[in-house]
Amino acid sequence: MSVASNTTAPDIETFHGSSLELKNLTMAYGDIDVLRNVSLTVAPGTTTCIIGPSGSGKSTLLRGVNRLHEPKSGDVLLAGESALQVKPDTLRRRIGMVFQHFNLFPDHTALENVALALWSVKGMSKAQAMERARRRLAEVGLAERADHRPRDLSGGQQQRVAIARALAMEPEVMLFDEATSALDPELVKGVLNLMAGLGKRGMTMLVVTHEMGFARKVADQVVFMDEGEVVEAGTPADLFDNPRSERLQRFLSEVL
Ligand code: ADP
Ligand code: MG
Repeated sequence: MSVASNTTAPDIETFHGSSLELKNLTMAYGDIDVLRNVSLTVAPGTTTCIIGPSGSGKSTLLRGVNRLHEPKSGDVLLAGESALQVKPDTLRRRIGMVFQHFNLFPDHTALENVALALWSVKGMSKAQAMERARRRLAEVGLAERADHRPRDLSGGQQQRVAIARALAMEPEVMLFDEATSALDPELVKGVLNLMAGLGKRGMTMLVVTHEMGFARKVADQVVFMDEGEVVEAGTPADLFDNPRSERLQRFLSEVL
């Protein structure tokens, strides 16, 4: 690794994550409220893990934060400013999201997958975009795989491409929705380590996960949701070692 000077970017860059705050967020599909009055604060550069049973509203919460689904009431504050007042396209540049099923473009190489949004959305030249995309791929350990298409990559490598693509937009917050749930067991750890590294480098992270070991070790805050509500929130020790509600006790007895 070369020593960074003042004129070249350091190999490992520090992120400047923004604060994220949910205020009485309520979300519905049709007439049914599936998220009720959820309030949550994620301090800049910290990692919050959301745990809870299937159907408890975890994905819906993430979709409200970047407005893939519009909240019914309440507010989302990004760096103190209402995200509901920001144009959805702008918001999605500021908030990166990584899904369970990668959602890569199958006919494009890893490099193109990372670079595409940079020239189509961010308006960079193709050369600039490719250059930045190459750096991002190297950062997630995929420099050698830049010219492979998704089908020629493992699930873990595909998810790294998806993470590199989100990071290339220089987001202030990263959302992860069960990012490792579709991976073969032996590939999970590498992706979790990559995610933990982003948190350590100052990214603000909101992570929906079934990986209780990751939540315990990496999270600054853990939030337990059930039936569209936040039931408990606190440090990993609070939730895992001293669960107060019967619902969390039952959930932990099922997953641990
Ligand atoms: P989780 O991610 O915790 O499994 P979801 O946020 O996906 O939970 O779902 C919360 C609730 O909303 C569930 O009852 C689910 O069936 C319902 N739901 C999710 N997506 C839709 C949708 N597109 N239309 C109607 N109901 C939905
Ligand atoms: Mg979900």
